[in-house]
Amino acid sequence: MAIDDETVAVLIELVQGEGGVQPFEKDEIQKLAAHLKGKGILLIVDEVQTGVYRTGEFLASNLYQIEPDIITLAKGLGGGVPIGVVMTKHKDILVPGEHGSTFGGNYLSTVAGLAVLDVLSTLYDSGSIDETLVYFSQKLKEIVSKYDHLFEKEVGLGLMRGLRAKSAEVQSNIVKNAMEEGLIVLKAGRNTVRFLPSITISKNEIDEGFKRFEKTISTL
Ligand SMILES: *Cc1c(COP(=O)(O)O)cnc(C)c1O
Repeated sequence: MAIDDETVAVLIELVQGEGGVQPFEKDEIQKLAAHLKGKGILLIVDEVQTGVYRTGEFLASNLYQIEPDIITLAKGLGGGVPIGVVMTKHKDILVPGEHGSTFGGNYLSTVAGLAVLDVLSTLYDSGSIDETLVYFSQKLKEIVSKYDHLFEKEVGLGLMRGLRAKSAEVQSNIVKNAMEEGLIVLKAGRNTVRFLPSITISKNEIDEGFKRFEKTISTL
C-alpha cells in the first residue's frame, strides 16, 4: 500500500466519476476508514460530484456509512451558482475569521446553497428522490437487456450513472449522435457513457430522455 509513516491524509472519491462511474465496494471503504482511523491518518472524501443527494443520500459517505475527517462539496450545492465547501468534524482546527478568501462565504452563493438544500431535502424527505433513481435505474437495465450487443452493463449509483459500452467506438458514436437528438450524455473512462440528470428530473423527462437515447442507439 502507498500509505506509510509520512502519510498525513488519504483523499478519495467514493464513485470515480471521470474514471468510468465506478463505485468502490462498501466493505473496502469501511476497511480503509477503520485502517486510517487506527493509524491516526485523516480520511478526506471528495464529494464534489457525489454530494448533495447525487447518490440518493445527502452524502455518498452516508451511503457507505463512514465518517470522514474532511468532506468537500461544490457543483450541485449551488444549483449553478459557484460555491465550494470544506466540512470537517474537527471543529477546533479553524475558528471564524481565521480562514479568509476573496470570494469565500459570500452572501449570494450561500443563499443559493441554502435554497438548493431546501428544495432537495424536501424531495428527499418525501421519498421522491428515491423513486426517481429507482425509475432511472430500471430504464438503464431495460436498455442493457434490449441492446446487449452494444452494452455490457449499467454502472454507478443514484443519479450518477453510466452504461459500459462494448467498445470505445460505440461510446463516442453515442455521445456524438445523442447531441443531434438534443440529449447530452458524456464520456467517462474508455468505454462508459455517462448520465448525470438533474436530481429534480421528472418521470416524463426521464421517459423523453430515454426515447431520444433509444433513437440515438437504434441505428448503431
Ligand atoms: C469538478 C470536480 C472537482 C474540481 O472542481 P473545480 O471547481 O473544477 O476545481 C474536484 N473533484 C471532483 C470529484 C469533481 O468532479
